[in-house]
Amino acid sequence: MKTILITGASRGIGREIAKLFAKNGYNVAINYNKSINDAKSLYNEIVSINANAILLKADVKNPNEVKQMVEDTIACFGHIDVLVNNAGISYKGLIFDESDEQTQEIINVNLLGSIYTSKYVIPSMLKNGSGKIINISSIWGNVGASLESTYSASKAGLIGLTKSLAKEYGYNNICVNCICPGVIDTDMNKNLSKAELDETIKQIPAGKIGKTNDISNLVLFLAESTGDYITGQIITVDGGFTL
Ligand code: NAP
Repeated sequence: MKTILITGASRGIGREIAKLFAKNGYNVAINYNKSINDAKSLYNEIVSINANAILLKADVKNPNEVKQMVEDTIACFGHIDVLVNNAGISYKGLIFDESDEQTQEIINVNLLGSIYTSKYVIPSMLKNGSGKIINISSIWGNVGASLESTYSASKAGLIGLTKSLAKEYGYNNICVNCICPGVIDTDMNKNLSKAELDETIKQIPAGKIGKTNDISNLVLFLAESTGDYITGQIITVDGGFTL
């Protein structure tokens, strides 16, 4: 049985990925940081369909906690076949209004967190002779977002990480890809007013914002044998927003 480790699986996109992989017969390692009740309800949902899961509290910006999370997953399931670097936070505002602590937090969670998980998971994939890593970046990492400069920089970093790891481990049968979602209906966008949302939708050729399963379905495609010859790719899922 294959094992997937998803960072930030308690809510939003990560939660949807966890549910889809459980339905598809994977052991699911659910990482959360603050939302313990959401993580527990996800765990219960997964075991209720007779799939295997483990709950792992870890702050991805802390390398010791990441190392422990990876060790606990391997102790429980034996190996990690798929890693999804999904945990992320955002901040909207002028760059000089952002505190130094906020700046560091965004880079540490969104970029360093994914570097740490990759660093600690890859040895297990090398031992296995295969692996899939999927980084959840953002359209803003590709095209840049006014009022989200640090966030965009952290997400652009994930694109560099994806391409580099794909080159470094391609020969070892480890595929590394990156998904750039557009506007997806999760808590991350809950502060958008109706007017802001309507204005955004007007700019999206598909005429709607995305759903979490628009992302999870692609993660599954990349993780399964359908994605075996795809590596180093930056795939946008945004209803045409950034065309
Ligand atoms: P969300 O609903 O706010 O969920 C964020 C998840 O990240 C939560 O499960 C949260 O866990 C976790 N997380 C945050 N900080 C963490 C930390 N330090 N350590 C471990 N986990 C942490 O957001 P989402 O929309 O699902 O976003 C998921 C990913 O997609 C993010 O990387 C985001 O940047 C990216 N994305 C989202 C959109 C969008 O429109 N929604 C667009 C482009 C890209 P806890 O609550 O347990 O702390």
